[in-house]
Amino acid sequence: MAQHLSGSCQCGAVRFLVSGKIQGFFLCHCSRCRKDTGSAQAANMFVTEAAIEWLSGVDSVRTFRIADTRHAKSFCMTCGSALPRAHAGGPAVVVPAGSIDGPLGLRPTAHIFSASRADWDDHLEEVPRFDGPPEPINPARPSPRD
Ligand SMILES: [Zn+2]
Ligand SMILES: [Zn+2]
Repeated sequence: MAQHLSGSCQCGAVRFLVSGKIQGFFLCHCSRCRKDTGSAQAANMFVTEAAIEWLSGVDSVRTFRIADTRHAKSFCMTCGSALPRAHAGGPAVVVPAGSIDGPLGLRPTAHIFSASRADWDDHLEEVPRFDGPPEPINPARPSPRD
């Protein structure tokens, strides 16, 4: 089924619409994706028979490619937000899940390159969760209860 994914960057300069078939939604733990995101994993959808329509800000879109690899990242040159890009290995479009505005209505398909994950990337579901900032760790910030 064809899907329409709309998203934007953080500064609002870039807005886009991607149409196509979502083939997979992968959480990639490889070292390049960790560098790209500064985090444990990238969360990317692979969309086939896809087209990217830049609704605004196409002049702000930059793409960094690592030579001799399929690895690339598109981003807004003003705010650095991740943006969709054509997949170097084929006709698909790679869409960062976090770039989509509103609910996605999809669950990830799989964790990939799990063997390359960071040494702190295990059992993260067991780490304490807060609905807001980590109050106990930041005593300089008064809690709402004070
Ligand atoms: Zn931006
Ligand atoms: Zn990766």
